[in-house]
Parts: sequence; C-alpha cells; structure tokens
Amino acid sequence: MLAGSDMSQPLFPCQPFSDGELAFFRRFIRHPSTGSNGMLDCAIERWGFCQRHTLGLLAVCASIPRAGLNTAGLLYQRTIQNAIIVLRRCASTDVSYGQSVCSEEPCPMCELGLNEHSTGLVRREWLTLPHSLERLQSLLNDSFEHWSPFVCSACVSSATGPLCRTHADAALLAGGAPFDVSALERQLVALQALDRHLLTYLETFLPESAGVDTGAGVAALIAAAGWCAGWEMVSLAVGYRLVGGAVHGA
Ligand SMILES: [Zn+2]
Ligand SMILES: [Zn+2]
Repeated sequence: MLAGSDMSQPLFPCQPFSDGELAFFRRFIRHPSTGSNGMLDCAIERWGFCQRHTLGLLAVCASIPRAGLNTAGLLYQRTIQNAIIVLRRCASTDVSYGQSVCSEEPCPMCELGLNEHSTGLVRREWLTLPHSLERLQSLLNDSFEHWSPFVCSACVSSATGPLCRTHADAALLAGGAPFDVSALERQLVALQALDRHLLTYLETFLPESAGVDTGAGVAALIAAAGWCAGWEMVSLAVGYRLVGGAVHGA
C-alpha cells in the first residue's frame, strides 16, 4: 500500500489538456472495437499511451463512462494479454534476451504532435476540465483499495506492487536478479488477475449483458493503465505524495 498519503490537496500533475487532445480522445472512444478503430490497434501495439495521455484518457473515461471505459477496457485487456504472452515466454525459456514489453515507437498521440497547445474542434460542453479531473479523482479514490496493491514499487517508493511495464522491461534486459524466475512468476500472477478482471469487466458492456461492475473492473483498468504507463502521474492526480522520491518510469 502507499504510505504517507495526503488526499487533501490533489494536484493536476501536468498541463491542462488542449482542445486538440480532447478531440482525439472523443474520436478514440467512439468505436470500442479493434479492426474498426485503427488508433486503438496502434495503441495496443505500442502498449498504450505516455503518462500524460494515459491520464487524459482516464479523465475522459471518468466523464464519459460508458464509451470511454469500454474502449479503455479493451485497450488495456489486449495490452495486458500481450504482456502475459511475452512474459510467459520469458518464464518458460528462462531467456529474457530479445523479449520486450516496450515499443520502439512513441506514444501514438505524441507522434501526432498532440500536446497542451494543440487546437481542435471539440464542444466545450462535451468536456470541461478540471471538472473531469474531479470525476477521475473520485473514480481513483473510490476504487483505491482494489488498484493500490498494483502500484509499482520502483515508481513509488512506498508501494509494494509488481514492477510496471517500463521497470519490468529494464529488469528483463538486465536479466537475473532482481527479476529472476520467481519475480517473473509473481508478475505473471498479477497480470493474469488483471486480465481476468478486465475480461469480466468488458462483458458488462455487451448489449445483452446484465452484469454490473462492482468496482473490481474499473480498478483493474486503472491498475492496467498504471502498469502500462507508470504510476507517477496517477499517484499525483489522486493526491498521493511520492514518498522518498520516485524513480521516474517513463
Ligand atoms: Zn503521449
Ligand atoms: Zn515502475
């Protein structure tokens, strides 16, 4: 668990999102299906987005839950599934060389040049920040107990969770301790749990589904987003201080 928390003053951990970025998110969440959403396929291939754009996606999801969380759920379920395949291969062969859970390619939104200055056509009433950040903070706080055990111990020094993707990749490249076979197995157990929760969560979006998320689904999505992008910005957004200095993961 995180320690030394102070939830009284949540921070906005980056520059506010621009109209251009918001317009991208609007298009991105519109089609929650691979094959018909090229940008979703691209984001899956690249292990999601950078920390800033991950936070933006989560903020949008908190404001437009149905479409937003469905698309984000799909993005992270597929990404975690891919990570399990790579790490399982590493565990079974005991050879990490050549295996990677990182992409050479940049964040898909950064590659498009989208940043805090980007212009775009988006209706103000569709999304007004920081209103949506408040909703994101509620979402994060409400599901904290479910996702906090997954916070990377290398990103946040007071956390005890499995390594995030960036730190796991660095450990894989280094080989051996501290990322030996048992650490790899622990990592796999955590990711498999996330995968199961995300699959159940995605079923709640099916038209014929009567399923309701009890909080475990959205927490798995937050944990998966944190695993993919690193935890610094999410920790700041929810108002937790990074105790003892953080190792910057992205
Ligand atoms: Zn980015
Ligand atoms: Zn990390």
